[in-house]
Amino acid sequence: MKFAIVSKKDDKSRKVEIYIKQQLESHQWIYDKIHPELVICIGGDGTLLYGVHKYINIMNEINFLGIHTGTLGFFTDYTGDEVDACIYDLLTKKPKIYESRLLKFQLDNDPNVRYALNEIRVENIIKSQIMDLYIDDEFFETCRGSGICLSTQAGSTAYNRSLRGAVIDSGLSLMQLTEITPIQHSVHRSLGVPYIMMENRVIKIKSDNFDTAFLCYDHLSIPLTETKQIMCEMSNLKVNFARYREYSYLERLKNLY
Ligand code: NAP
Repeated sequence: MKFAIVSKKDDKSRKVEIYIKQQLESHQWIYDKIHPELVICIGGDGTLLYGVHKYINIMNEINFLGIHTGTLGFFTDYTGDEVDACIYDLLTKKPKIYESRLLKFQLDNDPNVRYALNEIRVENIIKSQIMDLYIDDEFFETCRGSGICLSTQAGSTAYNRSLRGAVIDSGLSLMQLTEITPIQHSVHRSLGVPYIMMENRVIKIKSDNFDTAFLCYDHLSIPLTETKQIMCEMSNLKVNFARYREYSYLERLKNLY
């Protein structure tokens, strides 16, 4: 098996990385950073996001496994204290593959299509952002506030949850739109609660002025200075999580708070 490791830059994660690499290589696994079949992410959910973006170009050809060096997370199945159990499972078991689809978006002033596992956010912390939202080319509403967040099921426990969006059960593929500190008053109102929508919806976000806004996606961001329109939808790209043991969604949720 060809594998690669993406590790958080702290001592504990680095030690786990060195140990796993040495153990797997001693069992004839081949370390291949360019064309791995399995990417092991050591650190936390944030490290897995980093790994996903690092290997986005070969996403459909690889599986991911997460090891958390803090408390267990949503994308991580083992803790730093369970490394030997993890290595044993890797060497002896066949994993179940759990798929999680990525959102995609494109700006009108940039030909690149970009992807997100957790969410896409338009954020403006400098001044209130006015933008029009269209869903399947039909005008939905004008948002005024600090921005909006479009989350996947996987991202529902991340930024979306801090916006009081709903946690979505694993296995459901859909999108959730939430506003970030919306302005609601007598002359302007918006939906004001999260909107959970079918995964085949297409969202268009338009504004004459995104000057001080950013498009944030997972841990990444790009300025929207020259942008007038953003198109977002669910993509056909999936993150394949290799699950070597049962660790229920409810257990993951209970670990969250
Ligand atoms: P980061 O430090 O990598 O992550 C921020 C926190 O979000 C960490 O505790 C991370 O867990 C956790 N997290 C990431 N994905 C999660 C998921 N799907 N479910 C539950 N928790 C999750 O921060 P970053 O680099 O700025 O952004 C990465 C992600 O963090 C973003 O996609 C966003 O969803 C989330 N975030 C959340 C907030 C918030 O809730 N207010 C603020 C900023 C960012 P680990 O400790 O396991 O890595």
